[in-house]
Amino acid sequence: MSEKDKKLKVAFFDSKDYDIESFEEAEQAKKFKIKYFDTKLTEDTAKLAKGYDVVCVFVNDTVDEKVINSLVKKGVKLVALRCAGFNNVDVKAASGKLGVVRVPAYSPYAVAEHAMSLLLTSVRRIHKAYIRTKDFNFSLNGLMGFDLHGKTVGVVGTGKIGRVFIDICKGFGMNVIAYDKFPAKDVDFEYVDIKEIWKRSDIISFHCPLTEETYHLVDEKSIKNMKKGVVLINTSRGALIDADALLEGIRKRHIGAACLDVYEEEAEVFFEDKSGHILEDDTLARLISMPNVIVTSHQAFLTKEALKNIANTTLDNISEYFETGKCANEV
Ligand code: NAD
Repeated sequence: MSEKDKKLKVAFFDSKDYDIESFEEAEQAKKFKIKYFDTKLTEDTAKLAKGYDVVCVFVNDTVDEKVINSLVKKGVKLVALRCAGFNNVDVKAASGKLGVVRVPAYSPYAVAEHAMSLLLTSVRRIHKAYIRTKDFNFSLNGLMGFDLHGKTVGVVGTGKIGRVFIDICKGFGMNVIAYDKFPAKDVDFEYVDIKEIWKRSDIISFHCPLTEETYHLVDEKSIKNMKKGVVLINTSRGALIDADALLEGIRKRHIGAACLDVYEEEAEVFFEDKSGHILEDDTLARLISMPNVIVTSHQAFLTKEALKNIANTTLDNISEYFETGKCANEV
């Protein structure tokens, strides 16, 4: 058997140019035979994984029970997520059949800094000003913002990203209150219950995982309990927010602005060039049309540093799993 044939075979789904670049640049990539597929992993495309040892997937690939059974039949032994969240994987169905590993942290700064970029863009109307000056329109009408200094920000989820976001907010002189199901000890901010977050926050930023408990945390009822004019930032997972309830809250002028890097029905559209197409999702189209909504398409992770760490950790996870039968980053 040649050296090449001994290499572990990785079927890499939903690959983009920036993924290929960062994985091919990683030193460890030489140890693997990686085939990059443009397509997402779904029940229909699982057949492409036949003969591969590993499938490498991202946030919008489907790894449900049907896909898992199909992968197992085709000889796949490991699902290597190149992201932190694993809400798209049926972990129970995978248990005992194949391993699932992830990248728990690659750059909390990338995501936290993106959350702050969205907030600043929104409150200082940069998205509007940019388009105006491109057209030599130097009017300031309608561009009035507000100071972040002295405002209360409610942070939901105080893990790696939430903590970096809190530090950034403190640098801006904001008052920080936070909610976490598992509060950390020795913190320099105030923990409150979720009702207090809704009641007291001028700005709310979400940094908790998507679970059964956090699904539609923002819905019609919680929106009613929020301050009028509240700014919502979601860089976590789309389904934390009921998008129709959000739209209604914006229509009623109760929500002041929304900054969304994730959207509950993003799987069909995010990461793809849909310009020139008719968008079928009316809720997303209406949200995007609002002057006080900013949407980025799951871009918060996309920094040089984060991509490098994702590639290194993913490849190390695969090596560790096949060399030792386990992995510290197993889900
Ligand atoms: P983390 O695990 O370090 O922190 C998550 C925090 O949420 C923990 O402190 C945990 O105790 C808390 N939590 C768990 N259940 C909760 C609940 N029911 N209510 C409130 N808090 C709860 O994760 P992280 O690295 O900080 O990432 C946070 C989230 O950001 C991830 O789950 C992922 O979905 C998302 N993310 C998005 C991007 C992006 O590109 N937009 C990139 C990376 C991560």
